[in-house]
Amino acid sequence: MFTRRVLQFKKPAVSLGRTFSTRSTFANIRAGAFMRSSRRVLPALGFSLGAFYGMKHLNYSSKFRFSTQMAEAQEEFKEIEVTGHENLGEGEMMAFQVGPKDGDKILIAKYQGKIYALSNFCSHFGVPLAGSVLLEDKVICPAHNAAFSIVDGYPEYAPALNGLPTYETYEKDGKLFVKLPPNYKASKQVDMATRDESNKARVVIVGGGAAGLSAAETLRQSDYTGEIIILSDEDKTAYDRTLLSKVLVNGDADKWLLRKQDFFDKYGIDFRTSSKVKGVNVESNEVTLADGTTVSYDKLLLATGGHPKRPILPGIDLEGVYTLRNASDQEKIKSHVKDGLKVVIAGASFIGFEAAASFASSKIEGVQVHVVDMVNTAFEGALGKDVGGVLQKLGEDNGVKFHLSNGVKKIHGEGGKATKVELNNGEILDADIVLFGTGVQPTTQYIQEGIELDRDGSIKVNPFLQTSASNVYAAGDIASYPYHVTGARARVEHWNHALQQGEIAAFNILGKDIPYDAIPFFWTRNYMKSLQYVGYTRDYDDVFVDGSLEEQKFVAYYTKGEKIQAAAAFNRGADIHIIKEAMRLGLLPKASEIKDGSVTVQDLKAKILAKPGASACRRKSCCRNKKSS
Ligand SMILES: Cc1cc2nc3c(=O)[nH]c(=O)nc-3n(C[C@H](O)[C@H](O)[C@H](O)COP(=O)(O)OP(=O)(O)OC[C@H]3O[C@@H](n4cnc5c(N)ncnc54)[C@H](O)[C@@H]3O)c2cc1C
Repeated sequence: MFTRRVLQFKKPAVSLGRTFSTRSTFANIRAGAFMRSSRRVLPALGFSLGAFYGMKHLNYSSKFRFSTQMAEAQEEFKEIEVTGHENLGEGEMMAFQVGPKDGDKILIAKYQGKIYALSNFCSHFGVPLAGSVLLEDKVICPAHNAAFSIVDGYPEYAPALNGLPTYETYEKDGKLFVKLPPNYKASKQVDMATRDESNKARVVIVGGGAAGLSAAETLRQSDYTGEIIILSDEDKTAYDRTLLSKVLVNGDADKWLLRKQDFFDKYGIDFRTSSKVKGVNVESNEVTLADGTTVSYDKLLLATGGHPKRPILPGIDLEGVYTLRNASDQEKIKSHVKDGLKVVIAGASFIGFEAAASFASSKIEGVQVHVVDMVNTAFEGALGKDVGGVLQKLGEDNGVKFHLSNGVKKIHGEGGKATKVELNNGEILDADIVLFGTGVQPTTQYIQEGIELDRDGSIKVNPFLQTSASNVYAAGDIASYPYHVTGARARVEHWNHALQQGEIAAFNILGKDIPYDAIPFFWTRNYMKSLQYVGYTRDYDDVFVDGSLEEQKFVAYYTKGEKIQAAAAFNRGADIHIIKEAMRLGLLPKASEIKDGSVTVQDLKAKILAKPGASACRRKSCCRNKKSS
């Protein structure tokens, strides 16, 4: 039943009239304004992240394969006149105010002459979408590259697990109205099959992280009704691992669970925690657990991620010396927090830098944070000196002391506890905690034979993520795969990549023969500022900066000869998402054309849109919709 009235507010509902500028969106993000208005943000920043994972479902007659559970017959829709939509051009979006609060906004967008309305908040982290980029019917979240169809809310790109609710629009007497349910901000889950006990097929997934969870969900989304067993050596189900370093001091992984237990129960996903696998037998199709029990499989997915490298040096086994990979590491590190805490972090790249930022921006009275690394500039290896320098200055401005071109020689202790760190140049730093963020190696030690490994210990897979054993697949941090852009093998340690590989592995487990062809994307967030990166390079020979390093507003292109291999963006709004899409479609120009300014990011967007259908959400033909055999 619909109420036939226009909502009355103290202030009239006023359209913003045009698309938010990317600048204002990022200004909002920096200032935390969107966070104040959203339930879906970091608890450490004053928000309840748990609510974002609440996964409420809408009472919707789904146009697409979304869940329609939790029907609330009594739900009353409100009809609201949308003003200002006349100013919307084709391919433009705007946020439209539908309530009195700052966050009471929906997204209005125009595609093929029709106006669509949907949630303005990304289902991954609640980031507003209006200021980002719309490519055909696909709106891309400015923060983490999640993408949704504006037509039916379908979640196309990781890290979104859920879709967005869409709202019906209609015209009456020359006016445009939108029908809005009371819980218009809730995310919308893609429809999934449940377990059918008569189906005796069994897929076993080793590793319950990003890739493992994504694979299990994709199996159910593809109507697979057989058994799914996830074996994880952690004591909790999948959680957002990327927050461990960003909210190291104040965070609690129990609040970051990606799905609650009732989700696993409902969809018949047997998620076995504290179940460490110690062997795989590809002859008998069995995995052996640490307690000696075995679990047989028809198809096996290995998704055991990586574990931090722990250097061999004097004092490494003292209490207070840590690495950071899982929630248990975080809990141990947090147990040391006290006023006047002295932290020494070895490694000035992603994990070390984010951990340093978490300590430096915490409320710990008198905290001292030192970062030690052999490089000359933070992030030098991953991002180069120029971009690394911008981040390093951010750290310095926030009180972090860098000891670069230097290394940890020895850790001194008293009573079994770390107390000091001796550097290669003889300098001594006081330390209550020593944290090593010095790289990750693939966790494949439980594989003895029958599955081919690469030189770094990762699992070699083909483009279908299949290992040398034909019914065994691998995905995420452990997989070395042929990167379709260069043909060379790559091993990528990014969250979105793991989710996407889990998805593709699941499709191929179901026999769909879909090659993995995603463009890598990651972000790092420090001091409330994000750097985003697309592409993959190990051997760039030049970095071209478009914008200003001093003003911390730029896109850096990593090039080799005339090829743009990767790009990093800081405070450049949606540009990185356009570059990624151009990379995906093979539309990137020569490096010299970017350098001499003859091609801009806006030109790239025009090129993308000049290929009708190339960027549209793939929901109609998407492999996700194909039924399993
Ligand atoms: C602190 C931190 C911050 C990060 N921040 C970012 C970021 O900002 N952006 C980004 O893109 N990426 C980030 N990453 C990287 C990202 O988290 C990983 O790329 C991603 O988690 C990889 O997913 P995965 O499923 O391959 O492995 P994982 O998420 O590591 O999951 C593997 C699981 O398998 C379990 N396991 C291992 N061995 C066994 C065994 N023998 N038996 C059973 N279970 C086993 C592990 O305990 C783990 O639970 C971060 C990583 C860390 C550690």
